[in-house]
Amino acid sequence: MRAAAIGKMKRDQVRTKSPRLDSDKTGYVRPSSPILVGLKSRCPRCGRGKLYAGFLTLANGCDQCGLDYDFADADDGPAVLITLVVGAVVVGLALAVEVAFSPPFIVHALLWLPLLLVMSLGLLRPLKSIMISIQYVHDAREGEIE
Ligand SMILES: [Zn+2]
Repeated sequence: MRAAAIGKMKRDQVRTKSPRLDSDKTGYVRPSSPILVGLKSRCPRCGRGKLYAGFLTLANGCDQCGLDYDFADADDGPAVLITLVVGAVVVGLALAVEVAFSPPFIVHALLWLPLLLVMSLGLLRPLKSIMISIQYVHDAREGEIE
């Protein structure tokens, strides 16, 4: 019983290394994972409110807890990740198809251009959400020189 209580205390200590990992000053208990919250495109603080007002346009704030999304600044991060991941997948598939079947160029164009478009647009929104959630949890912001 005592060992279980000590184990729970150690887990709690690990969880609270960052001020926003368990709760923030507002008392909201953080969602279980910033990645899951990001995949659902929900508010990084409460995990319930919508993050987006459009396809990639952020809402002004959370409609559930009132968190202002002004801190959110994913910049080119999602685009860079998508370029690396989608590029590796599509180039790998294209090479495999070329080596196995040697199809004419038009087959490659018909296969890979739509796949590039679908994968890139499909991953953009969740990756942006994940980056914003992680940014919120770790209180990341632009560096400053004092
Ligand atoms: Zn919220």
